[in-house]
Amino acid sequence: MLDAADEEYEWHDRSSIARVTGTDHYHAAILTPRSVLLNPAALCRGLGETLPGNVEVCEQTPVRRVEPGSPVKIECAEASISARNVLLTTNAFIARLGFLRRDVFPMIACASLSRPLTDDEQAAMGGESEWGITGVTTMRRTLSNRILVRHGVDYTYDFRLSESRRRHLVESHKVILRKRFPMLANPDFEHTWAGVFCMTRNWASHFGRLEPGVFASLGYCGVGLPRGTISGRLLAEYAMGTESGLITDVQALSRPRALPPQPFLGIGIQARLAWYRWRARAEA
Ligand SMILES: Cc1cc2nc3c(=O)[nH]c(=O)nc-3n(C[C@H](O)[C@H](O)[C@H](O)COP(=O)(O)OP(=O)(O)OC[C@H]3O[C@@H](n4cnc5c(N)ncnc54)[C@H](O)[C@@H]3O)c2cc1C
Repeated sequence: MLDAADEEYEWHDRSSIARVTGTDHYHAAILTPRSVLLNPAALCRGLGETLPGNVEVCEQTPVRRVEPGSPVKIECAEASISARNVLLTTNAFIARLGFLRRDVFPMIACASLSRPLTDDEQAAMGGESEWGITGVTTMRRTLSNRILVRHGVDYTYDFRLSESRRRHLVESHKVILRKRFPMLANPDFEHTWAGVFCMTRNWASHFGRLEPGVFASLGYCGVGLPRGTISGRLLAEYAMGTESGLITDVQALSRPRALPPQPFLGIGIQARLAWYRWRARAEA
């Protein structure tokens, strides 16, 4: 795939991965030097701070209802807004506003961040001071000398991570960390959390107009940073009536398959998840 896309990459074997990461857990990896790993919270903050002057950010103002029409009415908790065109960038939460209920469903992906490693722990661990490796599990060593583990994906009908599941995740993240870095005797995690992402039945995203004046682009199945960024821009152009080859391409990739009703949806998702977990058991 990388060859076909003319993308640079390098193969790394177990010993060269160990030199970078300090663990010989991984048998092989591909380094894509033109890719970046980023901190999504820093990205959001940075975007918020550098928006152009004609953009106003309103925080802590959940949209309660969107009424399509001309103009579209958006009801928030304490005020309402009217606009000719509205782009809903709520991702999986869109179903809560009454749109695409049979097209997308929420999943949560979970991660933990360790406390900063002590000097002794860093010396025992070896490797470079910053790296990231992604697969079924993502691991990063950050410049603040912490380890990040991203592992565990669940179906969430209520968009939440339960406390018992969170406790279970902390333990599983500790096991993952110890397996790779047995030299870290007590790798405490300071934070464990889950974020919602938007899934579709056939991995196809949605792009386009939902109702007069209401547009959305979503359903990137856990890899929305690149796809969401480009399709968000294309959605704005589409809403303005622009035509382009890229818009045609993104439309061709859209069309989620209709979801079955509950309880079949929940049962089907849990069965697929069990199958994926079993297939990925060696990597965890
Ligand atoms: C742990 C984790 C790891 C991930 N790793 C990767 C990765 O490695 N690569 C990758 O490409 N993607 C990854 N993703 C997926 C990626 O984060 C998402 O695809 C991306 O954030 C989607 O961006 P978005 O802006 O469309 O939606 P979101 O980031 O979901 O943002 C939707 C926003 O809408 C707001 N909202 C919802 N309802 C309302 C309402 N009624 N009123 C007002 N606001 C509302 C929410 O608060 C939220 O801020 C990961 C996700 C998680 C959780």
